[in-house]
Amino acid sequence: MQLLKQLSEASGIPGHEEEIRRILTDALREHVDSITTDSLGNLIAHIEGSGPTVAIAAHMDEIGFMISFIEAKTGFLRIHPLGGFDPKTLIAQRVVVHTATKDLIGCIGSKPIHVMTEEERKKPVELKDMFVDLGLPADEVKQLVAIGDPVTLRQDFLVGASTISGKALDDRSGLYIAVEAVKRAKKIACDLYVIGTTQEEVGLRGARVAGFAVHPQIAIALDITVAVDTPGTPDEQRITELGKGVAIKLSDSSSISHPKLVQAMREIAEKEKIPYQMEILPRGGTDAGTLQQAREGAAVITLSLPSRYVHSVVEMAHLKDLEAAINLLAAFLETAESIDLTL
Ligand SMILES: [Zn+2]
Repeated sequence: MQLLKQLSEASGIPGHEEEIRRILTDALREHVDSITTDSLGNLIAHIEGSGPTVAIAAHMDEIGFMISFIEAKTGFLRIHPLGGFDPKTLIAQRVVVHTATKDLIGCIGSKPIHVMTEEERKKPVELKDMFVDLGLPADEVKQLVAIGDPVTLRQDFLVGASTISGKALDDRSGLYIAVEAVKRAKKIACDLYVIGTTQEEVGLRGARVAGFAVHPQIAIALDITVAVDTPGTPDEQRITELGKGVAIKLSDSSSISHPKLVQAMREIAEKEKIPYQMEILPRGGTDAGTLQQAREGAAVITLSLPSRYVHSVVEMAHLKDLEAAINLLAAFLETAESIDLTL
């Protein structure tokens, strides 16, 4: 769990995943035969073996911002989003502005309700009306901060009685599941690539080129999905429930899982008594969307970790679901050679 804490608290907006890549490299080094990085920053680790070529992929980037404007007189900063936060969750959150020389702690500010008009109070505050406040004189801000500097949330990762919570569980939990499954599998019955992808949150970009390079027959994306098992939402719109097991994805707006992979995952989960639930996500996608289009195509599936408060500043997932995801992936890797993908 120390690794997941480290990954969650580290920073990596799309296109700036270097800190995550370093942590992942350290975590994988002694378990793989080689590790390479391509021009989009994807980390590609290889465990040589016989059987089908399998890629497991989780994205290293997190939703965040770039500095887009520095107010000349006051030093307040405006931000450009990379990936889709729910803006109402951002107000009064602490952030880190990653400058060339140092990390600066700031806060996302907005107009206080005390001075809002009746009309303004009724509407949610938009990102364009927010700013980053470093509490520094304008001259100092202009010296330290450059347009394009990454901005990430500052948030502790905490383990509760049954849950974990923190920022960027999307998708640092996927990276953690990949590493732990590789370590836990008694044997790897395939030629395996473990890929930490880049720029997923802005359009599954890293996975597109990594898929071409690796040319997998089977690709498994590891990502979070939404659990709307909370007050105010009807049961049929839950998507998934926290604590009910790893989610085996059937479809989302980026991919439809290969039926034989769905069947294989279900059978393994039943046999190994791993708790699982089936997932259909009406909106949203994963790296499986571009991995399935690699060269002449790959059979893809996504294993999801159900999470509450997705794309907000604190995401929450269940320890049992995390454990189930690791166990299911490990068991799949042990038996991957025997899978029949004939449609
Ligand atoms: Zn994700």
